[in-house]
Amino acid sequence: MRNSDVEIWIAADSMNTYSFTTVSHEETVRAGKLLGKVLAAGCVIGLTGDLGAGKTCFVKGLAGGLNNVAEKDVTSPTFTILQVYDGRLPLYHFDAYRLTGVEDLANIGFDDYIDGKGVSVVEWVENIMEALPEERLVIDIRLKPGDKRVFDCTAVGTRHETVLDKFKAVVEA
Ligand code: ADP
Ligand code: MG
Repeated sequence: MRNSDVEIWIAADSMNTYSFTTVSHEETVRAGKLLGKVLAAGCVIGLTGDLGAGKTCFVKGLAGGLNNVAEKDVTSPTFTILQVYDGRLPLYHFDAYRLTGVEDLANIGFDDYIDGKGVSVVEWVENIMEALPEERLVIDIRLKPGDKRVFDCTAVGTRHETVLDKFKAVVEA
């Protein structure tokens, strides 16, 4: 069973997880930028966390670091579901807030995007977790008192593990 293999492998290798904290909107954008700079083609990033956690804020940074997109040009594609930002690698920004299952995603050709040469990032990924490939980077964002946010990153598969290692290195540099 591939699923349980992956779970055992995650449990056996703590190098696949990384946590960090931010204390402002700006710091979250900066963290997103650092990740954006080290992303590789084919990366799939899932973001979980309550309304206002900072998912879109993080994607603003991601789009800036990857493709030089201005912060103001990145908003949650809540109604359009998908927004594309071109640049070093096409960035497919999904918002699954209004989706209840995987059928809605199939309609917009989700699999073609995630199998493509770009990078996909999905807000409210918890709504469509079954549609996510096993090889992925999931970032769970938790709201803390004030402006503090805790980011728990879990990378599965060599590509995402390598990206997470690079990210860790630049954050801690
Ligand atoms: P989501 O997409 O998860 O619903 P947003 O990124 O749209 O959340 O909103 C996060 C809100 O919280 C913004 O108003 C942002 O300015 C504010 N904020 C305060 N502190 C932080 C922080 N450390 N990281 C991210 N956003 C923060
Ligand atoms: Mg959002």
